[in-house]
Amino acid sequence: MERTVKPPARARALRVRACAKINLGLEVLGVRRDGYHELRTLFQTIDLHDDVVIRTRPRGLVVRCDHPGVPGDEHNLALRAALELQRHAGIARGAEIAITKRIPVGGGLGGGSSDAAAVLLALDRLWGVGLGPAGLHPLARRLGADVPFFLVGGTALGLARGDEVYPLHRQVRGHTVVIDLGRPVSTPAVFARVDQSLTPRENSNRIFRFVSSDLEGLRAFSILANDLERAALEEAPDLTDQVGRIRGILIQEGAALASLSGSGSAFFGLFDDGRRAQGAQSALRAAGFSVLRAQTVSLNQYRRMWARSLGTRRARGLGNQSRSRHHGNHGRQGHPGRG
Ligand code: ATP
Repeated sequence: MERTVKPPARARALRVRACAKINLGLEVLGVRRDGYHELRTLFQTIDLHDDVVIRTRPRGLVVRCDHPGVPGDEHNLALRAALELQRHAGIARGAEIAITKRIPVGGGLGGGSSDAAAVLLALDRLWGVGLGPAGLHPLARRLGADVPFFLVGGTALGLARGDEVYPLHRQVRGHTVVIDLGRPVSTPAVFARVDQSLTPRENSNRIFRFVSSDLEGLRAFSILANDLERAALEEAPDLTDQVGRIRGILIQEGAALASLSGSGSAFFGLFDDGRRAQGAQSALRAAGFSVLRAQTVSLNQYRRMWARSLGTRRARGLGNQSRSRHHGNHGRQGHPGRG
């Protein structure tokens, strides 16, 4: 059964931006009964993005992507997202998805997950399904642990597998430099290494301390860390030397935070000041690294971006706490910048 929510007049295609994320902090608390890891993480969207064009067609699902490392078949997470929505809503119509990749692949920047969430939001609109972000949450969850976050965006706390998402009241605003080490690191392999050295850490509370901290400016970020970094470097030991040099340069250039994103291999620096970020970019480029610059995207900016993309006055329920417990506004947060 197809639900009847009026699609935008004559809209047959949408061009949307699928933003990358960084993990400002990540704690691995243990292994759950279902085999997944219990995580506590602080997600942050940034304006580095893939371009995704979604077109309806009478039948069938097709995906095209300009990146050789990204599958052009049903292994593509964006196509799986379309399939999931099609099945869930009993939709007979099809879609064509074209992805221009800008987010480094396999970098821990959530590119595939963001593409998938973008397709869910766009097809929900184009096919007139009308689930909205909260209604899409269970589908996103089945696609991958990072996908639900991209239905929300901004600065958010991720609990459980990272798929319980709570937007924070105080949103981080800052400038980032993202270093693409040009080498994908397998997320399952990193978690397998974490398991070998995992001790129960339910009491780890750096992220909660950060969230409830009243510290303004740069100081709040110094307590954050990524628990996956050591395992990622064990998995990719050839990167250890580069990561050491990158961190040194970022700190020297005044980064509030210098960290691996997710399970890597992308590394990032967070700055409160665009000039500092630019200085870091120049220094890293001079040292031979491939560097991208991006700004944080706050919850409201993310909502507005989606409202524009979907042609709604405001993206209905995007990050709206009233729709789901996964979309509540929680906590407070140290603020890196004045932006
Ligand atoms: P994860 O931690 O989920 O592995 P990541 O952020 O490290 O994600 P992605 O860029 O999402 O890295 O890609 C991870 C893997 O997913 C790659 O092997 C890639 O081929 C595959 N993949 C499937 N669909 C996509 C997509 N739309 N964009 C990017 N990668 C995709």
